Amino acid sequence: MARPILVIDDSESILIRIKEFLEKLGQNENYLENNADAGLKKFQELAVDGIHPIVFMDYDIKDSSGISILSRLLELDTDGEIIIMTALEKDSDVISKLINEGAYEILSKPIRLDMLRNVLAILELENDSTSNKEDITELLKTSNRLSEAWLSDKLDISIEELGKYTEKWISDKKIKQIDDIKEVFCPHCNSIKTGHLFHCPQCKKSDFNQIDLIEHYPCGNIEEETAFINDKCPNCKKELNAIGVDYRKIKNHYVCNTCENKFTEIGCDFICLKCNKQFTEEDAIWKSSRGFLKIDQN
Ligand SMILES: [Zn+2]
Ligand SMILES: [Zn+2]
Ligand SMILES: [Zn+2]
Repeated sequence: MARPILVIDDSESILIRIKEFLEKLGQNENYLENNADAGLKKFQELAVDGIHPIVFMDYDIKDSSGISILSRLLELDTDGEIIIMTALEKDSDVISKLINEGAYEILSKPIRLDMLRNVLAILELENDSTSNKEDITELLKTSNRLSEAWLSDKLDISIEELGKYTEKWISDKKIKQIDDIKEVFCPHCNSIKTGHLFHCPQCKKSDFNQIDLIEHYPCGNIEEETAFINDKCPNCKKELNAIGVDYRKIKNHYVCNTCENKFTEIGCDFICLKCNKQFTEEDAIWKSSRGFLKIDQN
């Protein structure tokens, strides 16, 4: 039976589009939520009923911050697969980090039907223990860089057994070996399936928003963007002229919705997606294994 899908996106038109795609793919149990809090509430309700949906979440959602939502989802339930949708470039630094933060997959907007089809096919393949392990094609559709440890986990076979497949994939020119890849493992159960939990450094809660600050050069005032009503500096009352000339935007500031602390350095712990235990960066186990890179067939 197909798993239910929860889509969280602040754009109604994107929600409708994704719903249409999902229905075309035969997915009929879909929950659509247009803000972070409603999405989290639905996710929790489903978790209480023992339902672990596949979540498609908008990373650039207006009423929260993508990493805050990701952390809160993981805290509620680690058995749902979380797929992030973002307008960011696929090879940007932020994106390459997200996979390690507990997201299952990243899709670049605009979302197309074939993207959804691929990601759902891979999920199905992974949950099907009788699938053909020699076929790496599906796995390569989403990831360019793979480690031996990651592959052995995904395919549910030992590193030794994996060896005979990787040799074949290398000779078939599907992948090539690169430098070893270092990854975090759970100190409790040794699983590679781990995610980051981001939190406010003061109260350790994961519910925070991203805020943009503006620095007004003529008077030196730095304040939240929302304080610049009608583009006027609240300090010197002058109008903002041109970005980069008389003012700049400062990104990556956060405000905690629990204790109202403002911060730039987000606190970070890990959560094991297998045993659900949380652990700190100091307790995390780092291990290296052989790395592989996908060879483009075109
Ligand atoms: Zn664990
Ligand atoms: Zn706080
Ligand atoms: Zn000013």
